Amino acid sequence: MKYYYIWTIGCQMNEFESEELQSRIEAAGYCEVFRPEEADLIVMNTCMVRQSAETKAINKLENLKPLKKLNPDLKIILTGCLVGFEGATDALKKQFKYVDEFLPPGKLPVWLQSYDRQMKTGICSFVPIQEGCDNFCTYCIVPYRRGREHSVPLDEIERKARKMVALGAREITALGQNVNSYGKDLVPQADITDVLETLNAIEDLKRIRFLTNHPKDMTRNLIETMARLPKVCEHINLAVQSGNNEVLRRMNRNYTVEHFLDLVDMMREIIPDIAIVTDMIVGFPGETEEQFMDTIGLIKKVGFDAIHIAAYSQRSGTYASEHLKDDVPEEEKERRLHMVEDIQKDILTEKNKKYLGQSVEVLFESKKNGRWQGRTRSDKLTFTESEKDLAGIVTRVNIDRTTAWSLHGNLEE
Ligand code: SF4
Repeated sequence: MKYYYIWTIGCQMNEFESEELQSRIEAAGYCEVFRPEEADLIVMNTCMVRQSAETKAINKLENLKPLKKLNPDLKIILTGCLVGFEGATDALKKQFKYVDEFLPPGKLPVWLQSYDRQMKTGICSFVPIQEGCDNFCTYCIVPYRRGREHSVPLDEIERKARKMVALGAREITALGQNVNSYGKDLVPQADITDVLETLNAIEDLKRIRFLTNHPKDMTRNLIETMARLPKVCEHINLAVQSGNNEVLRRMNRNYTVEHFLDLVDMMREIIPDIAIVTDMIVGFPGETEEQFMDTIGLIKKVGFDAIHIAAYSQRSGTYASEHLKDDVPEEEKERRLHMVEDIQKDILTEKNKKYLGQSVEVLFESKKNGRWQGRTRSDKLTFTESEKDLAGIVTRVNIDRTTAWSLHGNLEE
């Protein structure tokens, strides 16, 4: 178990952001402690609205210095206004040399994902390729908190990815809010296919994934590039959010269900076995039973390989929280959410049966409770028993048992 300590100072916005950060940190497996000396990770979320807040933050930081001496593995992260959107000043870095990362507001979740995956296995890692978003979906706070889209230059992505591979990573997921618009702000311009080509050329890297894709920006060229590059997995995350056009309009998603279905057909025409994963929200303001049933219809029609489902909840500062009445009762949201989960479970139970008797390629990550676990190229969690050290190994497994959530089998001789 790893422990974190978070310290927040400043405005309500900062308090709110810290709450959000806490849930991300806890989702990464950290448990909160209330004394910094007990933590493996210390996050300082700072504010400079008033001089007194800034002085308090500086004092607090100075108090952390001895802890780093006692525990060199301790990570100290400074984020919030003291760092600023442009990153920390040289003076700040010089004054607080023992701080591990100076993260501009909004950067912590991506850093945490990358850090956590590296610490856990070193085998599957994330490389941020883009920050911020220009889309302004009405339920989403990202464009306000993280600012407009900006892309990480290709050479920086390559440098980070090569370093991760040298440290043992065998799979890299390129991360961005809307990877389909990657590179529009770069000079010269680039696009997501350039990222894939760059990663594909890295020796010893076995697999590449990327997310999240936006249906309004998805192109045929991207899918053809996926099909052409051997390391890019047949696995895509394409967030649909709802199966009803009126709800999509109120979400400001800028595509229709028909367009989404055309994309599904196009992807399956080019890569017949592609695993399609999506994100969905149920109980969006004004979503009627009929509109929700359109979402159910879409789920049945497409047969997704995974759905990240959420019941709508208001985020203050978003358009929806200011202008759309949160009028679907909480119990009803829960009912809709469970209905999606139940239907999805049935779909996956059936879908995964096609793997029975098949030989699949698995990249193994770790051993838990005596069983090795890894993932197929289609991102199916797969288990096998073996005395060999399989960490970081890509090998084939003959599947003899499947469930809705996993595949089980024996190593191919
Ligand atoms: S939901 Fe995604 S695409 Fe929409 S505003 Fe948020 S980050 Fe951007």
